[in-house]
Amino acid sequence: MFELNENFQKLPGNYLFATIARKIKEYTAEHPDHHLIRLGIGDVTIPLAPAVIEAMHTAVDEMSRAESFRGYGPDYGYDFLVNAIIENDYKARGVDIEFDEVFVSDGCKSDSGNIGDIFAESNLVAVCDPVYPVYVDSNVMAGRAGEYDPATGLWSNFIYLPCLKENGFIPQVPTIVPGEKTPDMIYLCFPNNPSGAAIGYKELAAWVDYARTVDAVILFDAAYEAFISDDLPHSIFEIPGAKTCAIELRSFSKTAGFTGVRCGYTVISKELIRNGIRVRDLWARRQATKFNGVNYITQRAAAAIYTPEGKTQIRATIGRYMENAKILREGLTKLGYEVFGGENAPYIWLKTRAGMSSWEFFDYLLHQAEVVGTPGSGFGPCGEGYFRLTAFGTKEASLEALERIAKLG
Ligand code: PLP
Repeated sequence: MFELNENFQKLPGNYLFATIARKIKEYTAEHPDHHLIRLGIGDVTIPLAPAVIEAMHTAVDEMSRAESFRGYGPDYGYDFLVNAIIENDYKARGVDIEFDEVFVSDGCKSDSGNIGDIFAESNLVAVCDPVYPVYVDSNVMAGRAGEYDPATGLWSNFIYLPCLKENGFIPQVPTIVPGEKTPDMIYLCFPNNPSGAAIGYKELAAWVDYARTVDAVILFDAAYEAFISDDLPHSIFEIPGAKTCAIELRSFSKTAGFTGVRCGYTVISKELIRNGIRVRDLWARRQATKFNGVNYITQRAAAAIYTPEGKTQIRATIGRYMENAKILREGLTKLGYEVFGGENAPYIWLKTRAGMSSWEFFDYLLHQAEVVGTPGSGFGPCGEGYFRLTAFGTKEASLEALERIAKLG
């Protein structure tokens, strides 16, 4: 008998950004000529770097000539991009990654959502709270979440790792209690979306030790590593032993404005072995079967960010976003808000005013200041009472948002 994947039915409606979009639509319908400042969805606003555009133009021209035209590319990425990734993102940080350990993809959302294909449905999943919703929803779809409790906003089969002000928004490694279950898959994201927290070497090493002890695999989302300015790990593979217990997911979306271009990559070391099988081999098989690679033009564009000009240009763009982060962080602090993040990440995580809930604060800012952010509770119960603003707007928008919030008193 035909049946749908019933796990999809379990997903609660009202997806965070859909609710925000509806509220904005209703507000703008009532106030058609008012200008909203949108610092909600974490999308970039600065155009692609000139070096990237030039590489794309050249690649388009190549595609127009029979002698340089490319059809299907290699499943896991062209040599020129994979080698640039290995040299610049890993070797330059003292990490040796081999050519067949890198898998170029159309972005970190796809990879973080798809990676579960290679793991058993019975695996116990640990996620941070608050969390990037893709890790949760993709595991709901895969049948690993159990049942949703609308009263708590929690899934019965997940292990939640609270990220609170008290622990600096860095999840604490669980204590191992004999007879108690331990997670098999642990999702970590640093620098973090939504809290903007960044993890240090020692804290990350504690997670690597834990994963090795309990035989778990860490899925480490480093989509925001380019925003790190302090002495912090950019890659989990900077931590000794991580190759045997971690998978790293990376993205060019925020690093180089590729949200609309689509490119990222995943790294799985051949040292990551479970049940005698190289996990890398399963991902290779999965990708070769279900994914036909990233288009040549996009991969040329991505490789351009590793050229000297490309590097300078994307650093300048990141610098501009981080200037917005500083404006928002310092300005809101001066206004008396309790503010976190924004130093090694493009997200500002602030405590709402006067004990408002995250959604009350959302409505308050929308209606009173015409500023749009993201309610912290949309990322998980521990996000309640918090609010996220992104640094990806323009400088003018960041300054104006601050001015409007200041006027609220
Ligand atoms: N991972 C995190 C933590 C994110 O915040 C985002 C985007 O907001 C992504 C992944 C998505 O990356 P991509 O655009 O490469 O799919």
